[in-house]
Amino acid sequence: MSKKCLAAAALLALTSTAVAQAQPSCSGQPVQYDIAYLGGTDFTVTAEFPASAGLVDLSWRSSESAPDGQAEFISRLELRDLEGAWQTPAYLGEGSWQPVEGADAEYDALRYRLSATHDRVVWDIGKEEIAYRFDEAFYFVGSSVLIANYGWSDCGYEVDFDLPASWSSVAAWEGSEDDGYHTTSLNDLLRNIFVVGPNLEPQTMKLGGMEVVTLSQRALEPAAAQFQSLLGDSVSRYIEIFGSSPVDRYLAVFGVDGANDGGAFAQSFGQRMPAPLREYERLMWTRTLAHESLHNWIGITIRPESGSELQWFTEGGADYLTGKTLYRIGEIDEDDMIFILEGQVRRFLLGRIASGPISLAEAGVEKQRNRQLVYGGGALFHLFLDAEMTANQGAGSYEALLRQLYENADEPYSFDRMMTALDAGSDGSASEIYGFLNGPFNPFAVLDRMTEIGLPTAAFGPDELLVRFAANGCTGSREAACMPGYLAR
Ligand SMILES: [Zn+2]
Repeated sequence: MSKKCLAAAALLALTSTAVAQAQPSCSGQPVQYDIAYLGGTDFTVTAEFPASAGLVDLSWRSSESAPDGQAEFISRLELRDLEGAWQTPAYLGEGSWQPVEGADAEYDALRYRLSATHDRVVWDIGKEEIAYRFDEAFYFVGSSVLIANYGWSDCGYEVDFDLPASWSSVAAWEGSEDDGYHTTSLNDLLRNIFVVGPNLEPQTMKLGGMEVVTLSQRALEPAAAQFQSLLGDSVSRYIEIFGSSPVDRYLAVFGVDGANDGGAFAQSFGQRMPAPLREYERLMWTRTLAHESLHNWIGITIRPESGSELQWFTEGGADYLTGKTLYRIGEIDEDDMIFILEGQVRRFLLGRIASGPISLAEAGVEKQRNRQLVYGGGALFHLFLDAEMTANQGAGSYEALLRQLYENADEPYSFDRMMTALDAGSDGSASEIYGFLNGPFNPFAVLDRMTEIGLPTAAFGPDELLVRFAANGCTGSREAACMPGYLAR
């Protein structure tokens, strides 16, 4: 297992990895991080904690221009032994260090220099998942810049900033800059965004019982009201579907970049897009925004036990329900919906060809390489499941099943527990559809199945797709009146 997979698994399922390592117990004493700005692009990070042993780690993703990933931005890392002496640990590669005296040697503090120059790298998963300059400020994802002992399973965490007087901080954690931030889980410490620097103007709104903070780079500020309005409409709809919000506080950060993309974290998401906002690509950023905020329910709360085997379910589910929700709240029209459906079928067909005969679960192990299959196959799974359940059990039954998954999400889902729950709610349709998508590749069967659910689909090869609506006696059109009930407003 590569460090990348280890880190992903550790961050998604800290409880299971925690069992695998010898655990330092915090017994009431929190892990205290202090992040101080030194000037230029430099910060120092210091952490004090109860005596711990084993590795200290940083999230690590290699990239062509940064072969040693996020570790290239760390220098002068030292661990303090229990006699109070600072020692330089041995670097094991891939963002892992251990005390020079070996894995059993104990230490109770660490400190290092962080060079926030991550923009020199083009990250293949996108800068919003790592760190970047946010106008004069700095955007960070905790796991990319905070070195931690991944065995700290039962600790509380406090984060204090030492910043110039004119600076401020915006973070997804509870608390405030004046009194310090705190969180009770390592996952929440690391899988969240924080931004520090001058001229930050976060805006706060209330949605149900949820406080949503949005923060935009200057060039996107003219669009801030649009972001808030879309976030308000889509999140309100998600709260209706799932019955509640899993978090009290949520942070959405919008940054400028050449491409549209986003990343979701424990109580936050980061999105990037070209600025100034161009009206013609509204569909791109609305889908990203609604997809990333939906992860709060599907992906973060309904979460997999292992990092890879339910990627198809969480990513495909987020994509499918995003499209349906945007249509139902009036954010997109019938033509947009057809464009989205055509894209999902195309992605699946091309993904099957590109990734070969592997299952949707297997495709998640290399999610980026197999992204067409993971996203396209996953979205078709949800589409077929919604169509089938609506036909058998009536409108809203698919959403009711998702809500049930959410209500039973105290524990993460293994693949088997997920399929058992889906089959119980759908009378076995889930396994049949999953088997259909994984079965011998037959594009014509996919087209037939689309046609059977009221979405007749024609294809020229696997890449030119045409979807129409043919419910309510229609023979195939783009009209709202012809849309199948499970999609219609
Ligand atoms: Zn996603």
